Amino acid sequence: MSLIVVGSVAYDGVETPHGKVDRMLGGAATYISLAAAYFSPVKLVAVVGDDFARQDVDLLASRHIDLEGLERVSGGKTFFWAGVYSADMNDRTTLRTDLNVFADFNPKLPESYRKAPYLFLGNIQPELQSHVRAQMNGLHLTGGDTMNYWINDYRAQLLQTIREWDFLLINDSEARMLSGEHNLRRAAAKILQMGPSILVIKRGEYGAILFHHTGHFIAPGYLLEDVFDPTGAGDCFAGGFIGYLAGRGAQSSDLPHLDPAELRRAVIYGSVMGSFCCEKFGVDRFRTLTREEIEARYQEFKTCTDF
Ligand code: AMP
Repeated sequence: MSLIVVGSVAYDGVETPHGKVDRMLGGAATYISLAAAYFSPVKLVAVVGDDFARQDVDLLASRHIDLEGLERVSGGKTFFWAGVYSADMNDRTTLRTDLNVFADFNPKLPESYRKAPYLFLGNIQPELQSHVRAQMNGLHLTGGDTMNYWINDYRAQLLQTIREWDFLLINDSEARMLSGEHNLRRAAAKILQMGPSILVIKRGEYGAILFHHTGHFIAPGYLLEDVFDPTGAGDCFAGGFIGYLAGRGAQSSDLPHLDPAELRRAVIYGSVMGSFCCEKFGVDRFRTLTREEIEARYQEFKTCTDF
C-alpha cells in the first residue's frame, strides 16, 4: 500500500529564537515522506543537484523511502530556501529562495511507481500536479496541498487540478484566499464544492479543522513546552494524515461510508507528527523518533481532549 510523495527536496537555512542553522536538509517532500514513512511505505518523486549529500540520501533510505524517483541533475544545485522566524514563531519571513534545479522540475514517475494506490502532491505548479496524477493508474486516494502563489496567479489551472482530488490540505489564509470567504465554515463549504470531499484546514500551533460531508472535527495543536523550529510542521502534519490513511488501506470509493472516526484519527496523527517536527531543528527529530513515542503522544491527545 505505497504512497507516492511529490514535491521539493531542499537545503534550508533557518533562524529561530533558539538558534540558527545555515544549511540543513529540508523541503516539503522530505518532511512529508519522513513523517508518512512511520505508517506506510513511501516512494519519493523530487529533484536535487549533485551537491545533494550522501548522508541525506542515507537518512531517507534508512526509513525505507524508495528513492528511484529522486532525480539528480549533474552540474545542478539543489533548491535552497532560507527563512527567519518572529519572536513568537508564528510569523516567518522568507530571506532567500534559490529554485536552482527545482525551477525545471518535471516529475517523472518510474514505472514501478505507477500502480501505487496513494498519491500526495506537494506544493508545485498545479499543471505538473495534474500531469503526475495522469501517469498513475489504480489510485485509491489522491490529494495534496498548494500555496498562495498558485491560488492567486494560476487559479484556473489549480481549480482544474483539485477537481480530481479526494483531499486538500491547506492553511487558513490559503483557504480564505481560495474561497474568497473570510469565515472558515463558509470557506470550507465552498471548497468542498470544488472537488475534494475531504478538506483539512491547518492552523499552525492552534491545530487543524477537518471538513467533510458528515460535518467537521476540530483538533488542537499539541501543547509543546519548547518549539525549536516550526519549519516543516505543516508538511509533517500532511505526512502523518495521509500516511495513516494509506496504512489503513482507505479508498475513495469508501469515502461516502468511511467511518468518520478514521478521518479524525488521521488528523490527530497529523497533529502528532507536526508537533514532533518542532522539537528539534530541521528534520533532526526524525533521526531518533520511534513509533512508540508516536503512539504515546496519540494517547495523550486522546486524554487531553476527552470530556
Ligand atoms: P512548511 O514549514 O511546512 O511551510 O515547510 C517548509 C519547507 O518548505 C522548507 O523545508 C522549504 O525547503 C520548503 N519550501 C519553501 N518554499 C517552497 C516553495 N516555494 N516550493 C516548495 N517548497 C518550498
